[in-house]
Amino acid sequence: MRDEAKSRSGNRSASHPGAVSRSNVGSEIRGKLHAETIIVGGGVIGCAIACELATRGHDVLLVERARIAGGTSCAAAGMLAADSEEFTHSVMARLARESRALLHEQRERISLLSGVEMGLQQHGFITPFRSYSEVSSFKNKRSSTLSTEHMWWDRVAVQQEASWLNRDTYGAYYRPSESEVLPVNLTQAFARAAQTMGARVLEGVQDVHLHANLNGIQGIRSSIGTMTSKNVIVAAGLHGEELMRDVGLSLPVLPVKGEIAAVHFSSQHVSYRPDKTVYAEDIYIVPKANGEVWLGATSLPGRTDTKVSVQGIQKLITAATSWVPGMKEAHFLRAWAGVRPSTPDGLPYIGACESIPGLFAAFGHYRNGILLSAITAKLMADLICGKTSEELGIQDLYPERLNRKEILH
Ligand SMILES: Cc1cc2nc3c(=O)[nH]c(=O)nc-3n(C[C@H](O)[C@H](O)[C@H](O)COP(=O)(O)OP(=O)(O)OC[C@H]3O[C@@H](n4cnc5c(N)ncnc54)[C@H](O)[C@@H]3O)c2cc1C
Repeated sequence: MRDEAKSRSGNRSASHPGAVSRSNVGSEIRGKLHAETIIVGGGVIGCAIACELATRGHDVLLVERARIAGGTSCAAAGMLAADSEEFTHSVMARLARESRALLHEQRERISLLSGVEMGLQQHGFITPFRSYSEVSSFKNKRSSTLSTEHMWWDRVAVQQEASWLNRDTYGAYYRPSESEVLPVNLTQAFARAAQTMGARVLEGVQDVHLHANLNGIQGIRSSIGTMTSKNVIVAAGLHGEELMRDVGLSLPVLPVKGEIAAVHFSSQHVSYRPDKTVYAEDIYIVPKANGEVWLGATSLPGRTDTKVSVQGIQKLITAATSWVPGMKEAHFLRAWAGVRPSTPDGLPYIGACESIPGLFAAFGHYRNGILLSAITAKLMADLICGKTSEELGIQDLYPERLNRKEILH
């Protein structure tokens, strides 16, 4: 258990945002809280929403049962793969690009407000190929992601632009706009910036349940008492489904476990270190702003544990070394695992729950929650401020689309 906790916290790289501590949370505030909007969940999604709402002058209270950035957000690779991911729905492709642009726009402001650097880097992503037939199959399979803004590199260009790639590499597809962040830093930056803008952030609040009646949402009940609000946004990632069940709604979340390894190249071997992200079929290799290189990720549907398997890490290191032979000179640092919150139709739940006025969902971002954090925050703030899903073009993300059940009272 101790090892598991250690491996999960391995990806933490910013210090704690200084929210109310677990030990004093109950005695100080028991029974006193009201807010215009309560957000349940302190992952990247909840913290981004808190930041956006607070920035717009909204009265926000974020409630996290453990620690800020302690859930799936601390396990991510942090890629903002808006051009590289194959989105099955056109709305997601649009939102992904908008969100990547927003993160670039907001970087300086969030850093100034929070004092935390999100580690945003734009080195571009390379998809390498071993043969002409791999290129053809990529063109067929990924036609929707190809763009004239990207570049095809032949063998010579690969050696010039990425000399650390295997010399047998036949060619590559390069997407210069792709970027990545340090996910824990980003989450904590959002949380601290939200606090600077007046949001209240409570950690260690246990036994949170939604509280609704015939008039709609009334707030939440928790180990430290009842908290009332006009709106509640459920941003609890993997656990969003459980919370929604309290009020009779069925918003299924499907877990998909993933493992990542971190390595480091010493100054002696720095020429072997990738300076761009490798986004291959079998592996991604991400050079991070903190000097590390992250190798990810396995994909294990249905698994909710966060144990790291030897088999999983062996697979990642073998694939990484086959693309970047100098990888064998790197030092292994650590490995961790997390569980992606997927949904049956692959789309996140983003919007108002019409059957319970005042209740909103923002979870189920599967493998792109870091990327989609900024746009999710903007959309949720627009919805809270009175815009409709239709006006925002996100009606297909309607939270109650998969199942509707009677409200339990
Ligand atoms: C191996 C791996 C690699 C990934 N790589 C990428 C990537 O490169 N790029 C990308 O964009 N995404 C990536 N992802 C996906 C990304 O991590 C998730 O989509 C994202 O972190 C989801 O954020 P969240 O805020 O919804 O959930 P979380 O981060 O899990 O936050 C939810 C929070 O809610 C809290 N909570 C739950 N229940 C309650 C309750 N009842 N009361 C109070 N609080 C509660 C939890 O404690 C948690 O802190 C990856 C994921 C994994 C596992």
